[in-house]
Amino acid sequence: MSEPSLSVCVYCASSSKIEPSFLEQAHRLGEALADRQWRLVYGAGSSGLMGQVADGALTKGGSVVGIIPRFMMELEWNHPHIGETVVTTTMHERKQIMIDRADAFVTLPGGTGTLEEVTECLSFKRLGLHNKPVALANWGGYYDPLIEQLNRTIDDGFLAEGFRGMFESFSDLEGLLAFLESPTPWTNPIH
Ligand code: AMP
Repeated sequence: MSEPSLSVCVYCASSSKIEPSFLEQAHRLGEALADRQWRLVYGAGSSGLMGQVADGALTKGGSVVGIIPRFMMELEWNHPHIGETVVTTTMHERKQIMIDRADAFVTLPGGTGTLEEVTECLSFKRLGLHNKPVALANWGGYYDPLIEQLNRTIDDGFLAEGFRGMFESFSDLEGLLAFLESPTPWTNPIH
């Protein structure tokens, strides 16, 4: 198989006790990534949206890389069927490798772990540590409050106006995939 043209890091929930349509959409996203021969990079979990996006990619023969700290492996939280599992010592190391191995980021609905991952990714982008596209999957308006808060950091002067385009949000899968195909160029105002 030829090398994937794009590696997409997906941050998402480990919980399965959520709106079932989120689980279905995550599976469809995994399938869509594999259909395009893009690689999925994610937290290597087998439950919740993490498990669904990986299973979606695997059913279509996609390339899947999971990055997971050793303590989670010992708890058997890892997905046993993905193509590559990178085991890290710490959570920090895990998140850094996820950022390094991705060309673009997608954030699906999730809990504190997902929020931590996307806000760290945006903080690093804001500091110029990377300039990779970041998409929020705002399914069912799940991320409306986060988007409002992020806009408020700019409205209230905590962040310069030029950072407003640092991420884009999408309510549907098609818009999200079109963005990954052809991301809007963004120049960091600190440079
Ligand atoms: P959350 O959005 O809080 O479910 O967080 C997703 C992230 O939480 C993952 O990237 C992991 O760091 C971690 N996580 C929490 N529970 C699990 C689990 N059962 N399996 C795998 N990762 C988990």
